[in-house]
Amino acid sequence: PYDVLVIGGGPAGASAAIYAARKGIRTGIVADRFGGQILDTASIENFISVKHTEGPKLASSLEEHVKEYNVDVMNLQRAKRLEKKDLVEIELENGAVLKSKTVILSTGARWRNVGVPGEAEFKNKGVAYCPHCDGPLFAGKDVAVIGGGNSGIEAAIDLAGIVNHVTVLEFMPELKADSVLQERLYSLSNVTVHKNVQTKEITGTDNVNGITYIERETGEEKHVELAGVFVQIGLVPSTEWLGDAVERTKFGEIVVDKRGATNVPGVFAAGDCTDSAYKQIIISMGSGATAALGAFDYLVRN
Ligand code: FAD
Repeated sequence: PYDVLVIGGGPAGASAAIYAARKGIRTGIVADRFGGQILDTASIENFISVKHTEGPKLASSLEEHVKEYNVDVMNLQRAKRLEKKDLVEIELENGAVLKSKTVILSTGARWRNVGVPGEAEFKNKGVAYCPHCDGPLFAGKDVAVIGGGNSGIEAAIDLAGIVNHVTVLEFMPELKADSVLQERLYSLSNVTVHKNVQTKEITGTDNVNGITYIERETGEEKHVELAGVFVQIGLVPSTEWLGDAVERTKFGEIVVDKRGATNVPGVFAAGDCTDSAYKQIIISMGSGATAALGAFDYLVRN
């Protein structure tokens, strides 16, 4: 069996694997997509001591750093079940069962769906979630961004440089994004912001041709013709596969203590999949290190 088996290959998982391997214990890492969310991130300027980098570049550095150590890297593999017996068992979607004395869960998070008619139907036919991946597909066209939080406003600023026009739709009466992002957004001439509106439907025939929203104060329905809709309304933790095996919040986030320990002895968690207050690269890496040290401490005592 492994001493430490990490599930998830984003910043949290990579950090956990390196910290574990540096203790000279048997370490493995299972990742559906090594790199995680940073693969979808264009520019990173808050990874302290690195003034500027790009997501895919940071992802390759993570993988390179992990491979400096004696870590079993199992990329393109998904975990589907966790069971605590004498050891912790992780079943993969390919049917294999891995056993380990401790497990660190670092499966991260993914974009939330808005859940209106047309969203599922027009996915990849105009409905998108990753501006850095799909933005260029809408060059010169009109798009909407649903969501006025940091990710929505970042997306709108990003897209405004590529597309003809961006309409931002925010459900609440105010944008939630940091003021520096809002200032930047309002300085752009090809962006329109609608606050206090509810998205009703994404319309189209073969591809998206518009979006219908309701002004919440008046109840008035409006339609905007456009070619693309970017849904940016937050992240959902990738923890459904755990079921009741590990305690999670009502949002699905894994509950951890200050050592990264969950309610199951020997099972630790780190990064965006946990109930940590903030979701950032540097925070995920710190919590990955914490969870690995927590797991090592657990191994020493058991
Ligand atoms: P993730 O990065 O989500 O990685 C999760 C890993 O788990 C992946 O390898 C995934 O494939 C794997 N996985 C999931 N489910 C399973 C499973 N069942 N079995 C096996 N593997 C699984 N943060 C910053 O600090 N600065 C920024 O500028 C910044 N910009 C961002 C821009 C965008 C567009 C996005 C999406 C995020 C941004 N973030 C930024 C946030 C940052 O990317 C995340 O906080 C960070 O990636 C979280 O790391 P993580 O390791 O916890 O999870």
